[in-house]
Amino acid sequence: MAETHDLIVIGAGPGGYVAAIRAAQLGLKVACVELAKGLGGTCLRVGCIPSKALLESSERYAAARLGLAEHGITVEGVSFDLAAMMKRKDKIVSILSKGVDGLFKKNGVTRYLGRARIVAAGQVVVEGDSPVELAAKHVIIATGSHSADLPGVELDGDRVGTSTEALAYTAVPDHLVVIGAGFIGLELGSVWARLGAKVTVLEYLDRILPGMDSELAAEALKIFAKQGLEFRLGSRVTGARAKGKGAVVEVDGAEPIACDRVLLAVGRTANTDGLGLDQVGVRLNERQQIVVDQHYATTVPGIHAVGDVIGGPMLAHKAEEEGVACVERLVTGYGHVNYDALPGICYTHPEIASVGRTEEQLTADGVPYRKGAFPFLANGRARSLGETDGRIKVLAHGETDRLLGVHIIGPRAGDLIAEAAAAIEFGASSEDLARCFHAHPTLSEALKEAALAVDERAIHV
Ligand code: FAD
Ligand code: NAD
Repeated sequence: MAETHDLIVIGAGPGGYVAAIRAAQLGLKVACVELAKGLGGTCLRVGCIPSKALLESSERYAAARLGLAEHGITVEGVSFDLAAMMKRKDKIVSILSKGVDGLFKKNGVTRYLGRARIVAAGQVVVEGDSPVELAAKHVIIATGSHSADLPGVELDGDRVGTSTEALAYTAVPDHLVVIGAGFIGLELGSVWARLGAKVTVLEYLDRILPGMDSELAAEALKIFAKQGLEFRLGSRVTGARAKGKGAVVEVDGAEPIACDRVLLAVGRTANTDGLGLDQVGVRLNERQQIVVDQHYATTVPGIHAVGDVIGGPMLAHKAEEEGVACVERLVTGYGHVNYDALPGICYTHPEIASVGRTEEQLTADGVPYRKGAFPFLANGRARSLGETDGRIKVLAHGETDRLLGVHIIGPRAGDLIAEAAAAIEFGASSEDLARCFHAHPTLSEALKEAALAVDERAIHV
């Protein structure tokens, strides 16, 4: 006899667990099936959170070693304990994962441990130690993604691995080769470079961070190269494997590179295998992502999907908003996600943050725009922090002045972008941003100045 609920959510990552909680708040009887013991998905267990914990620890080490002298502070004998750093990271993950457990209990979401398979619309079996059959009017698939393979790269879970292994190396590699200069390659490459590894980043394209504003990406490349990361752009990796105590990486038209660890970071693939989607008729696109309409409905009535599994930018906050909008639409008839206001942040040092459209996209779409830019070099707070690399670029419609995009490389860019995201969400113009008070001395004044610069009236440059 199947256990009956109003909604079954498959996957307890940011898309799934947030959808489950919101649905319970709205009065639904909710089940959430997760195959991992810990809740929170890729993001919490092996993604956003552990990577940010290591980025913070390694950045503090780098700052203590190199960044304090200019403040007149002398520090000698700075060292680190990698095991302690990893323990701190694991503790943060564990606390937050238990926090999700607590939220499920508080909201009355029933958690099932095991692998879910859909046998028909509204019918799910949970395979595992305690198999169970579930039935519900609605099913939301939020199974996320896993690291994409690259032909010829032989992952061995040790010398040649993915971000999951790179979040848990037990020793600093002498030489780490990173395949892919995207978010993962740059964030985790930065962690290990700061801790002393020689890091070589191999990127197929002639630029880093594809999709982000190309001017800012070019500036980032220079800054990271100064920090010691070695970039080989235009490098197509054709193979990699463990060899002896290390590994070897093969690159089209170049000598093979011997190293001691390899991090494969060439994107992520949707988790759609083994869910029974073929049998029930849920359509996938050519990238194996679930096809949904604007309300996250799949091709089968009663089955919805959100997060990494449907494609689009693979970001935790995108998955969360989709989860909320999906259940709100199911219960109230209305749900809202504005992808124009979706920020993306690369948590390197300095951070790189972006919301809205880039100049390349506006040019390609033939949208007239005006731009204003402001360097952190001319910002008083950035000077006092000793963090003057980078700038802010504001893009506004050429006729209406409506904000179309804001792109930042510089100190705390990830926090600064929140104001730009709110402004875009509210349909603000660059004039609106320019007229707002921005407290002095703050980094946010650089955003005001960049908005003023759209109209060529920045004060401090
Ligand atoms: P996931 O978080 O992948 O969750 C899916 C869950 O479904 C998993 O727990 C999985 O075990 C479970 N599952 C899969 N199949 C089944 C099944 N058949 N039955 C039951 N359960 C199943 N994004 C950001 O916004 N900011 C960041 O800083 C950031 N950093 C990242 C760093 C790394 C190293 C990585 C790898 C990713 C990072 N991301 C970041 C991306 C972010 O993790 C994803 O976009 C986000 O986790 C997607 O959420 P989701 O709920 O769609 O899927
Ligand atoms: P990515 O798509 O960001 O970057 C992959 C890079 O690999 C690209 O630059 C691509 O050109 C390159 N590449 C592809 N094939 C190659 C080849 N054969 N040889 C060399 N280079 C090759 O992917 P990622 O860094 O693996 O991250 C996966 C996802 O996780 C991203 O979509 C990202 O949104 C998400 N993520 C987000 C954050 C964050 O928000 N801070 C952090 C980590 C991951």
